[in-house]
Amino acid sequence: MDAEKKYILLVEDSRTQALFARRLLEGAGYRVTVAETGRAGIELAQTTHPDLLLLDVVLPDIDGFEICRFVRRSVTTYIPILIFTGERTGMEDRIGALTTVGADDYLAKPYNPRELLAHVEALLRIKNTIDELLSRLTSEKQSYQALRRIALTDYLTGLYNRHYFAEVFEKEFSFAIRYKTALAIVLSDIDLFREVNNKYGHPTGDWVLQNVSALMQSRLRLGDVIARYGGEEFIMILPMTDAHAAAVACERLREQIEQTTLNAEAGPIRITVSFGIAAIPSLGVTKAAELLERADKALYQAKHTGRNRVEIFNPYLPPAPAESAAK
Ligand code: GH3
Ligand code: MG
Ligand code: MG
Ligand code: MG
Repeated sequence: MDAEKKYILLVEDSRTQALFARRLLEGAGYRVTVAETGRAGIELAQTTHPDLLLLDVVLPDIDGFEICRFVRRSVTTYIPILIFTGERTGMEDRIGALTTVGADDYLAKPYNPRELLAHVEALLRIKNTIDELLSRLTSEKQSYQALRRIALTDYLTGLYNRHYFAEVFEKEFSFAIRYKTALAIVLSDIDLFREVNNKYGHPTGDWVLQNVSALMQSRLRLGDVIARYGGEEFIMILPMTDAHAAAVACERLREQIEQTTLNAEAGPIRITVSFGIAAIPSLGVTKAAELLERADKALYQAKHTGRNRVEIFNPYLPPAPAESAAK
């Protein structure tokens, strides 16, 4: 099959006319397939993706108008269609072909060979433009999605990044305030991670981060979001979740991480993670940033009281020093 050549499907029951048109079109550099019945024409139009469909009107089974209608309905890609209005050249038929039937063009039979070629060329030009536009749209959509993925995810862990978190958090926060639903956020931080780096080296530290990220992500419910907040810090958004429910989920996660042995090349590694939770509705929280600050304070509390713990923000605890744990 010649990939360069445009492919024309001709539906024509008269052998002499089909032969004439075929020679003409092939002589002009097109590839031509002839269908002698309406049924065969429809099938070929659906399965072989012609660049152009030329339809005779009077055929032994289904007439050209019907074929045109059917192809328009059943083939989702755009195929230009030209109808020969040979035996029925009345004005109404010609107008009907272009309007109700959905053809792009018609030509009265007998036609002038040069005129047919001119029509074919014009229709293929339109088809070409449409195809080019569609493929440009597809590739732009793909590059947009690829860029978005790069812009919003963290390279090392594949989790969302802080930028994405900020976007989603603002939205979820406003939603929860407006509809008076619960919303919890959890700031977590790997305990004594510096020691992992010191003992096993930075690349192994990275590998541990990847594993912990995957583990955390796999524990989330649909609708929850986790992002890498900083070096060895993660933030989770748990919509429709109050502080207590968040604590239950975090406690389960904390235990699981505690009980997991990561088999690094350098040897088995165990780590623990501390969690700080803050949730709304809560008195005194009207801005997203305030909730975040509370989660940060709760995390500080978890670190301060021994690490490997889950803490819910408690307003009655003494304020943390300016330099908090979750920096
Ligand atoms: P704490 O329990 O108080 O959180 O102790 P920590 O050692 O985890 O805390 P600290 O903030 O002192 O150290 C965090 C460490 O995390 C230091 C830094 O080298 C390491 N870290 C941050 N980002 C990365 C990373 O992308 N890869 C690796 N390998 N290490 C990282
Ligand atoms: Mg005919
Ligand atoms: Mg840490
Ligand atoms: Mg830290």
